[in-house]
Amino acid sequence: MQTLIPASWAAVGHGIPSVCSRHGLPATLRARTRFESAPAGWTYALIPLGLLVFLIVRAATRQVVDAPVWHYCDRCRSRRRQQRVWFGLLLAAGFAIPVAAIALEAGEPAAPILMAVALLTVIVGYVGLARARWEVIAQARVTRDGLWIAVRDAAPEFDAEFTAAIAAAQQYYADPAAPDGPAAVAAAPTGAGWTTPH
Ligand SMILES: [Zn+2]
Repeated sequence: MQTLIPASWAAVGHGIPSVCSRHGLPATLRARTRFESAPAGWTYALIPLGLLVFLIVRAATRQVVDAPVWHYCDRCRSRRRQQRVWFGLLLAAGFAIPVAAIALEAGEPAAPILMAVALLTVIVGYVGLARARWEVIAQARVTRDGLWIAVRDAAPEFDAEFTAAIAAAQQYYADPAAPDGPAAVAAAPTGAGWTTPH
């Protein structure tokens, strides 16, 4: 279940609900948020050629929408804060382990085990920090065609506000002079592409 917001709206901050997309709670922070598309499945097939090749193709095929406005509630903010603190500490610990191993002159078999633990700790810390990005908190990504921001499992309050913004826009474009007239209703776009598939 996802809510599709036109990328052109997000890029100018039009029609963005005033509640957070994850919890539907009133915003206590509005933050510029950079949304990206997920890598296309075929790009993963390039990983055997080397991580660098994958990253270059990934960067070349990525769709990015820089939204000047997106709203976050207190729960969103504490979630981000906690993730940054704990995974940041984990990352720091991952880098500290090899230093400690050298300082303590760890030999066989402790040294290889410590290196493996350090590598794992760094990876978990890095992934955890990446998950603390605002776009992940907002549960949203750009679609591969770059035209929409797809919000996954958006809160009902968020959905309702966005649906109202769409309805207002449809009325406006149908007939700005008489937004409630029968002609305006008849001429209103059917909503193809503007609906919220669930
Ligand atoms: Zn929230």
